[in-house]
Amino acid sequence: MTRVLLVGYGKMGKLIAKLAPDFDITIASIVDRDIQTNELPKDAKIFSQLVPEAINGCDVAIDFAEAGDILSRISLFAKCSCPAVIGTTGWDKQEYEAKQIIAASDIGLISAPNFSLGVSLFLQLAGAAAKLFTNFPQYDVGMHEMHHRQKQDAPSGTAKLLATKVLSHYPKRERMETTPVDHALASNAIHSSSFRVGFVPGMHELMFDSLEDTITLTHTARNREGFAKGALTAAHWIISKKGWFTLDDLIIDKLKGHTC
Ligand code: NAD
Repeated sequence: MTRVLLVGYGKMGKLIAKLAPDFDITIASIVDRDIQTNELPKDAKIFSQLVPEAINGCDVAIDFAEAGDILSRISLFAKCSCPAVIGTTGWDKQEYEAKQIIAASDIGLISAPNFSLGVSLFLQLAGAAAKLFTNFPQYDVGMHEMHHRQKQDAPSGTAKLLATKVLSHYPKRERMETTPVDHALASNAIHSSSFRVGFVPGMHELMFDSLEDTITLTHTARNREGFAKGALTAAHWIISKKGWFTLDDLIIDKLKGHTC
């Protein structure tokens, strides 16, 4: 059994702990600054902050918490030689620094704003569609994402990944413009709108629109299980790796290069 340290025992942390046995994973330690439940995995050690004792005896860490002190958490994983799966979102401005920490360490780290296999395949399809539609200037391109009202970042990390993928095929489009938009959209921008309501686990849409018709590609998460299963799969995969990885690396590894 692989021994995992879970950082963050909220909606995602609890689901990962519930599904862990199906992946031959034991939750050995949990770190949460404010545990709101008695439903804890048997034999897990509980900590209110990330300290070396929480990492001791764990093969890998899975982090679904808040972006605030992410760099100090990554530094400690590196210092304690603990490979890490980072699902926490909203810290892309600190990514460069995080990559330097990992480059100077002996661990592997896989980071993804969306660990679901379906989203990864959706992003592959989106790349292929953008590559096709960029040849037809009569079609404009735009994006929309929707999440539950407690989500703390906008646009979602997945929307940013989607924009990067699409922009790479549109040489005349240089940036993603996010809501609110109170002016005509610049010709070098792609619009990405964000909507927050209720309990939606996540929806991302890519739209190509002409005077005559609309073509949409949509990924709708039905629940959070896809994210949790992806993170548990990544926990096994990252243990033998060294360096910085994204979900694409894992998928390409599994698909043996059959990507768009
Ligand atoms: P949540 O609010 O339900 O849970 C977060 C938990 O982390 C809370 O219990 C909180 O007390 C704890 N926490 C926050 N900061 C902490 C810290 N510094 N140290 C210890 N504990 C801390 O949120 P959630 O829905 O479980 O999502 C958690 C994160 O994962 C968010 O950033 C969210 O955007 C992201 N997320 C990623 C994916 C993915 O596939 N990568 C999927 C869903 C959510």
